[in-house]
Amino acid sequence: MILYNSLGQTKQEFIPHNGNKVSMYTCGPTVYHYAHIGNLRTYIMEDVLEKYLRFAGYDVKRVMNITDVGHLSSDADTGEDKMIAGAKREHKTVLEIAKFYTDAFFSDCKKLNIKFPDVVEPATNCIDEFIHMISVLLEKGYAYPAGGNVYFDTSKLDAYYVFGNINEEDLAVGVRDSVEEDVNKRNKTDFVLWFTKSKFDSQELKWESPWGLGYPGWHIECSCISYKHNGEYLDIHCGGVDNAFPHHTNEIAQSESFLGHKWCNYWFHVLHLLDARGKMSKSKGDFLTVSLLVKKGYNPLVYRMFCLQSHYRKPLTFTYESLDNTATAYDKLLKRIAAIPNEGAIEQDKAVTLIASFRNALDNDLNTSLGLTSLYDVIKADVNGATKRYVIGEMDKVLSLGLLQAPAETNHATDDALTAEIEDLIAQRTAARTARDWATADAIRDKLKEMHVVLLDTKNGVSWSIEK
Ligand code: AMP
Ligand code: ZN
Repeated sequence: MILYNSLGQTKQEFIPHNGNKVSMYTCGPTVYHYAHIGNLRTYIMEDVLEKYLRFAGYDVKRVMNITDVGHLSSDADTGEDKMIAGAKREHKTVLEIAKFYTDAFFSDCKKLNIKFPDVVEPATNCIDEFIHMISVLLEKGYAYPAGGNVYFDTSKLDAYYVFGNINEEDLAVGVRDSVEEDVNKRNKTDFVLWFTKSKFDSQELKWESPWGLGYPGWHIECSCISYKHNGEYLDIHCGGVDNAFPHHTNEIAQSESFLGHKWCNYWFHVLHLLDARGKMSKSKGDFLTVSLLVKKGYNPLVYRMFCLQSHYRKPLTFTYESLDNTATAYDKLLKRIAAIPNEGAIEQDKAVTLIASFRNALDNDLNTSLGLTSLYDVIKADVNGATKRYVIGEMDKVLSLGLLQAPAETNHATDDALTAEIEDLIAQRTAARTARDWATADAIRDKLKEMHVVLLDTKNGVSWSIEK
């Protein structure tokens, strides 16, 4: 499989460290609010990546953290603690907020057919591991205490900007966002590993440490949680593109300084979902959630298909108009698949060829829109129904669009599309009958029957209805 690797910024062949085993790490949500559909674009594309790796025969272990402590409103250790802000907003404790939004996140994932990761670990479960890694970084001279906190010293690294796309201007944004500049930092890219002299009096979650009562910085959690569950070598690390700097850059700094060797070979970043105001973000307040889409009558899998229609490395702009187009396409697709009779024996050679074109698409940097095209090609292919259904089922192991499920009640847009399709078939049947081509006429009648269409031949032509 060829994947774009943010490390090196080129497409590269994916070769795991240990044969067919793949260790995969995904930055999980910060659970101070609902995940918005932008966050979920990232999780959908990561899910497709995981499922495709499994489909290609790899044995994947996927680990995800839950950020329930230490993430400040600016990723550069400044601003308010996101969890405390969430707790204040809802007059609840941080733990209550964390539990509620963790559950909400996985419930959204389920609706979007996103597989539950093999390991899910909240940051607050791993305080001992954080303390251990920070102690080693101090011993090795990569960290220093200052003003009561412990910092990572980025000047100790040969190369800090590993993704190569950071410029001074981006950094200045981080500085501009800051409430007040942290005078304890030796270099402006240094970051906090452990807070003790917290600027937050109301910090509820504090733990004893060799450096005093305090709490971990955000970046250390992913380095530790990955190490805890995937060991010294990680094959692929995923996240939204905003995580590349400083979060993933800092993870690499910590992990490689701790381990003394290269840590993760492939970095997979999903570009942002945008709305009319730019990047969809939780801090902007009114963002779109899966529940809102459901309330508006959309099947969540329509949003999944919307994401699959575009490439993960291109920004995707959300509008209701484009979602409506996808809803129409999705309903039509399900109906066309439902109309395929499960007839004949599976034609293995033909199935392999059809699946190969799907694999070619996904092998090329996870080209899901081309993958969908190959799905449409199956529907049109010159193979029997059983083969089609089998191949579609195989593709759906990766696409997870519920393709073999019975289509739900149609909405208005679909009604129009379906009506056109049915009337077209009826016209073809009438033409076949006029030409006394009974075989074609019967075949079309059978197809309509599969679509639950009841025909009534009357003096004035054919009328039809959908069987309830
Ligand atoms: P957070 O809960 O803020 O830590 O973010 C969870 C995941 O969503 C991270 O991988 C982010 O990089 C990603 N993310 C945040 N905003 C967007 C967006 N607008 N589009 C796509 N992914 C995003
Ligand atoms: Zn992370």
